[in-house]
Amino acid sequence: MDNIFHPESLMMSHGFHAADHQGAIKCPLFQNSTFAFRTAEAGKSFFELAYGLRQKVEGEETGMIYSRLNNPNLDLVEKRLALWDGGEEAAFFASGMAAISTLVFTFLKPGDCLLYGAPVYGGTDHFFNYVLPSFNIDVIKFNASDSFETIVKRTESANHGKIPGLIYTEIPGNPTISLVDIDMCKQLANHFEKDGKRPILAVDNTFLGPVFQHPLKFGADISLYSATKFIGGHSDVIAGACVGNSNLIGQLKCMRTFFGCMLDPHSSWLILRSLETLKIRMEQQALNARKVAEYLQKHPAVDKIHYLGFLKDSDSQKAIFEKQCLSAGSMISFEIKGGEKEAFLFLNNLKLFKLAVSLGSTESLAEHPATMTHVDVSAEDREMLGINEKLIRLSIGLEDADDLIKAIEHAFNKVF
Ligand SMILES: *Cc1c(COP(=O)(O)O)cnc(C)c1O
Repeated sequence: MDNIFHPESLMMSHGFHAADHQGAIKCPLFQNSTFAFRTAEAGKSFFELAYGLRQKVEGEETGMIYSRLNNPNLDLVEKRLALWDGGEEAAFFASGMAAISTLVFTFLKPGDCLLYGAPVYGGTDHFFNYVLPSFNIDVIKFNASDSFETIVKRTESANHGKIPGLIYTEIPGNPTISLVDIDMCKQLANHFEKDGKRPILAVDNTFLGPVFQHPLKFGADISLYSATKFIGGHSDVIAGACVGNSNLIGQLKCMRTFFGCMLDPHSSWLILRSLETLKIRMEQQALNARKVAEYLQKHPAVDKIHYLGFLKDSDSQKAIFEKQCLSAGSMISFEIKGGEKEAFLFLNNLKLFKLAVSLGSTESLAEHPATMTHVDVSAEDREMLGINEKLIRLSIGLEDADDLIKAIEHAFNKVF
């Protein structure tokens, strides 16, 4: 019956039966490393499932074994996240980077190739460009503005006919909020299909998902998250997640068992709490962001603003936005008049906002990508992507929007 309700209605109940837990309204915290089997036969049967030695029988629940493999809090948070993305299953990880690195090492082996859309999160960029080559994994990059034909040509000429095993994009791209067409990526995956093997398409959906963008509906195989951001939403937990079909998520969970990078029970429990308010937080943050963006757009100290709500009809990004995004979200980047000096003065005088990296939390945050989150991105790429010393990134939280504007105005007045 749960399939007739919206995810926001199910975050308080789906998959949990109070009667099985002394009437507890919320799922208790299962702070256990291991679980007692009722009988040796039960233990044997659980292991058969865990190691894929047999298929689940109709309606069978996976028995609890050991918290690196499964745990009731982890299990429940995975069931609930999957509902938002319309995926069959989800897997939670100890961080967004754990999700990304497990994804890559599940689907790519030495000699394989990764095709990715830039810009990506600074940690992802470093992992792709500095770590993967040392594992003999080739890395090919495209930009949001590149056409299908350009990407195909570049990939084929760089790669001596080898097809990419994984196509990875972050939508919107961080920090310039650029959009890549998921459908075009799907066509790339289809184009590169060879001998029945099609590249896996993964979308980092951290900035808009899982409320405002659903990559699986547009043909992505995996919707990936830093759940540290909107999903966690309170700046008190580090976590990551992947959502997709049971086959792919099963492979990720298998690799996760050996990397040991599952999410711990307490963090899973915190995210169960967070999922209950996910939609209302993201919607209010998006409303606040619109007000702040409208203020910034008119301000003479602002040279340029990156915000999905201001895309022009003439901009090809607008059509992608209308096709695959349900809201402009709550991330804004803007260029302040001047340079690093003005940007720093602004940040140092900004009240209410915390000067911190991360995003998507209840509190508003501000940072300077060129010297902070993206300092490790090559100068050439920073230039190409518009990550310059004037750029300031804001993550808008749940404070009163007019108060946020007052705080920004105060900071501008200190600079100019
Ligand atoms: C933060 C972030 C990550 C990395 O996630 P962690 O939870 O910090 O490991 C990956 N992608 C995006 C878009 C992010 O913002």
